[in-house]
Amino acid sequence: MKIKAIETFILSDKLQNSFFFSQWVYDERKICVVKITTDTGLTGWGEGYGPAEVIKAGIKMLKPLLIGKDPVSQETLWFEMYRKTLDFARRGILTAAISAIDVALWDIKGKAMNLPVSVLMGGQHRKRVMPYATGLYFSESANLSEKLALEAQEYVAQGFKAIKMKVGFTIKEDVKFVKAVRVAIGDDVQLMVDANHAYSLREATELCKLLEPYNIGWFEEPISPEFYNQYCELRSKSSIPIAGGECEYLRYGFHHLLKNNCVDILQVDICGAGGLTEAKRIAGLASTFGIEIIPHVWGTGIAFHAALHFIANLEPIPGRLFPPDFFIEYDRTENGIRESLTCPAIKMKNGFIDIPQLPGLGIEINEEALYRYSEKVLT
Ligand code: CA
Repeated sequence: MKIKAIETFILSDKLQNSFFFSQWVYDERKICVVKITTDTGLTGWGEGYGPAEVIKAGIKMLKPLLIGKDPVSQETLWFEMYRKTLDFARRGILTAAISAIDVALWDIKGKAMNLPVSVLMGGQHRKRVMPYATGLYFSESANLSEKLALEAQEYVAQGFKAIKMKVGFTIKEDVKFVKAVRVAIGDDVQLMVDANHAYSLREATELCKLLEPYNIGWFEEPISPEFYNQYCELRSKSSIPIAGGECEYLRYGFHHLLKNNCVDILQVDICGAGGLTEAKRIAGLASTFGIEIIPHVWGTGIAFHAALHFIANLEPIPGRLFPPDFFIEYDRTENGIRESLTCPAIKMKNGFIDIPQLPGLGIEINEEALYRYSEKVLT
């Protein structure tokens, strides 16, 4: 079997209601999706996390390394792509281009061997995962506390047992919003906070202390991903677990987070950090430090399904007779592409999502949605 064609699609969706977080405003969703076709007619799908046009250019640059090659040998192809980009992009967007291609190759490999990706990766430690709702962004509102509280209650009504909200506004406002959400959802639902690296070490330390009464599951990206030592210092001072890693790339980048004792929870983005091939290596590395992984997931059903398979295959640290539920991040902000690009639709039952058992990633692409959102870029 040989790779015959590699096509990229930039999908975009203008949002009905823009929202913002500590760094910038979202008024559209845009994503680069890749389709790889073999000479036997199999297709695999992947996507890259980050600026879509740059990822598209990266995939175009990598394409000559792949055409005519056997897609099943995805590790050797990964290495060739890595070698090609090493001098220019050890931590960045070309890694997302590699990731998109790698996920598509795993999809093809699964379909070729008639096995789900998670089984190909070595097996399924679990058959279901617990989604946590990512939402509760900032928006223009006369009473944002009340709006956030209502949104949080909606997630609980939908069956979510855990919710992640944004912080990074001002420390005072953050505490006010967290309190409003905690009161609204009660004590039985887990609540996490994410600052998207808005704060200095001093500010993050202060916020940790002020959030202690609200039983926070983890504090995500409290400070800039550049400051490994500060993460370590914050972690030693905070009673709230510290999470990070969505801005980190490759096993080499994650090694910095691990060896510097930066985080309690490592958040690998499979579609950014190097694909499923590299994410599995990062999981192996994290296991040697006894650090758990809860991947960062943002984008379409392709990224979500790649994460489902990865999490199914994650080794529990430590093992025990009655293991805990494993989380998957489930973005609930407005995104028409995520809702319509892949089928079957993502379904939550009693607060859990089943690991797909179909070959490859276990999804079909809705071609009508693919072209509908692609067309919007052209107009
Ligand atoms: Ca985040």
